Amino acid sequence: MNRMSAIHDTVYKRTQYDVIVVGCGGWGLAVLKVLTDMGLSVLGVERAEICHNLRHYMKHMVMHSVLSYMILDPEDKIVARKGDDHHPLIEELIQSYSDFADKFDLPIKTHHELLDVEGAKGAFEVTVRDGEGRTSCLGAKRVVLATGSYDEPNLAGIPGELNGSVHHYFHEWEHIKDKRVLFIGGGFSSADGIIALCPRNRILWVVRKSNDAVEKMLTDQKTVWGQPDAHLVNTEILTDSQVISLENNTAVVQTPGGRQTWDFDLCYMLIGHKPNQSLCTRLLNGNLDFDEETFESCERPGVYLVGALAKKHLEHIGLTHNLCPDNDGVRYIERIRSAMQQEFNCSGQQFR
Ligand SMILES: Cc1cc2nc3c(=O)[nH]c(=O)nc-3n(C[C@H](O)[C@H](O)[C@H](O)COP(=O)(O)OP(=O)(O)OC[C@H]3O[C@@H](n4cnc5c(N)ncnc54)[C@H](O)[C@@H]3O)c2cc1C
Repeated sequence: MNRMSAIHDTVYKRTQYDVIVVGCGGWGLAVLKVLTDMGLSVLGVERAEICHNLRHYMKHMVMHSVLSYMILDPEDKIVARKGDDHHPLIEELIQSYSDFADKFDLPIKTHHELLDVEGAKGAFEVTVRDGEGRTSCLGAKRVVLATGSYDEPNLAGIPGELNGSVHHYFHEWEHIKDKRVLFIGGGFSSADGIIALCPRNRILWVVRKSNDAVEKMLTDQKTVWGQPDAHLVNTEILTDSQVISLENNTAVVQTPGGRQTWDFDLCYMLIGHKPNQSLCTRLLNGNLDFDEETFESCERPGVYLVGALAKKHLEHIGLTHNLCPDNDGVRYIERIRSAMQQEFNCSGQQFR
C-alpha cells in the first residue's frame, strides 16, 4: 500500500476513552458492564458479532458449566425459565449474552478488529479496522484485552496435520454422515464431537490418555456435564496411543501393541487452541504474564488481560454471588473493578 492510500484508509477519530475493552465474549461484556457502572467512559470493540468465538464452537453443544456459573444477568429470562442448574445449549448462552449487552445498552462497536496498541499508560492509541477495511485510531487511558484463546489451533508436528482433510475446529457437523472420521485428542471437545457424529459415521478415537481416564471422562460427560443421553456407538478407542502420520488420509498410530494404520475421510485434531500469536507479540512482546491482583500486564503497564486470554480465569464468568456463591468469576471481576477504581479514583457498585 502506498502512502497516499494509507492516509486515505486511515480515519483518525481521536476519540478519547478511559478504557477500551477489546473482545466482546462473556468476559469482555462483564468487564464493560462493571466499568460502565463505575461511570467511566468505556468502549468495547469486537472484530465480528458479540460472542464471535462462541458462535464458532460446536453447534448445539451442551455447555459443561451450569447456567449459574456463566450467566451475566441474574434476571436473565433464560435463567428464570430454566433454572440455575440447567446446562444451556451454546445458542442459549449466546442469546443470553446478546440480551445482556442490549439490556444494559453496552457501548460496543462490532466489526471492529484490534490491530495494534501504541503509546503508553494514560495515552494509548488503539488502531482498529472496521468491516469495510477502514482503520481508525482511538485514544484510551487503559486497555483491557478480552480477546479469548481460540484464534489458532495447537499443532502436534505430525506430517499431514495441515492437509485439507484435517480440521482443527469442530463447528458444522450435521451434514457429516457415512464417513470414516478420525479424532485426535483426549479432551472434552473430542468427546462432544464424537458423541455428535458417532450415530451416523465410523469413528476412530486416538488418545494418549489411559483407558481409565477416558472412561472417567465419558462418565462425567453423562453424569456431571449435562449429557445424560451421551453414549458412543461405531467408535473404536485407542488409548495410550498417538498418531505419528496423517499423510494421504491414512493415520499411522503408535499403540502399546505396535503400529496400526487407519484410512480416514476426515480427521478432527482437537488438541486445544491459543490466542493470536502475532497480535500478542505486537502488543505484549509475546508475554501474557499479569499481576494476579490487578490483571495488569507485566510487560505493558496500563494493559489488562482477562478471561480465556489470561487462562487462569478462563471459566465461570457469573457476575453475582447470589446465583453462585463459589463463583471465581465474581472474585476476578471484583479485582478488575477495584484495580480500575484505584486507577481512576472513582467508586463503583459491588456485585452481590
Ligand atoms: C469447546 C469448548 C467448550 C467450552 N465449554 C465451556 C463451558 O461449558 N463452560 C465454560 O464456562 N466455559 C467453556 N469453555 C471455555 C470458554 O472459552 C470460556 O468460558 C469463555 O467463553 C471465554 O470467554 P472470553 O470472553 O474470555 O473469550 P471468548 O468467548 O473467546 O471471546 C473473545 C472475543 O474477542 C474477540 N476478539 C478476538 N480478537 C479480537 C481482536 N483482535 N479485535 C477485536 N475482537 C477480538 C472474539 O471475536 C471474541 O468475540 C469452552 C471452550 C471451548 C473451546
